[in-house]
Amino acid sequence: MERVADGVWLLRGDLRKSMNIYFIEQEGGGVVQFDAGTKAMTKKARAVADGLGGLERVVLGHADADHRGTAPSMGAPVHCHAGEVADAEKDTSIRPYWDLSQLPVAPVRWIYPFLLRRWDGGAVKIAGTLAEGDEVAGFRVVHFPGHAPGLIGLWRERDRVALVSDVVYCVDSARLKPLPEGEVSVPHPAWAWDHAQAKQSVRKLAALEPKLVGAGHAEPLRGENLRPALEAAAEKH
Ligand SMILES: [Zn+2]
Repeated sequence: MERVADGVWLLRGDLRKSMNIYFIEQEGGGVVQFDAGTKAMTKKARAVADGLGGLERVVLGHADADHRGTAPSMGAPVHCHAGEVADAEKDTSIRPYWDLSQLPVAPVRWIYPFLLRRWDGGAVKIAGTLAEGDEVAGFRVVHFPGHAPGLIGLWRERDRVALVSDVVYCVDSARLKPLPEGEVSVPHPAWAWDHAQAKQSVRKLAALEPKLVGAGHAEPLRGENLRPALEAAAEKH
């Protein structure tokens, strides 16, 4: 467990520790869990939440199998954007709009359906929805549609911290490898609900001029102003 910003903790787990769950301490006590990682992370996530004063709610950045894995077993209400509710509450580990045939490396293409089923915790009952501007533990909800229709991130102006789920990748999902340090990319089109909007959302994130971007996979990205790196990512692919 790593403290990545004031009151923000990162639990990394599963495949090469590439799956991220964030815990945000609330002023009045207790924590909010942002993103739910994979099923295998459940025991650790529960221990972390208990150690931080108890879990108030789980907020899903989006409903992909590797982001909802622990959610059904955390014993707390689960919230997400309205655009993710239907798929979050479905049992399938594969989103209807994915096109895995676009992944260039055949063995990676073949292994994903197996991995996704293993990562998934299954259908999640959604207790409430969140929209742009809502407050979550001192952060504001920002809607970043594209990779998923109801993808949301959390933004805290005072220290320019953005927790963004899969708005950007710090990993190469087409090759199951980390990206070179400091590099980010728009998630691969194979996973996109709308790739053009996904790029637009990376530009929206860039315009916030964050100093820390905590994505859904791999190490958070840090810098005095991450705008140029994010803008460069939005121009690729
Ligand atoms: Zn992901």
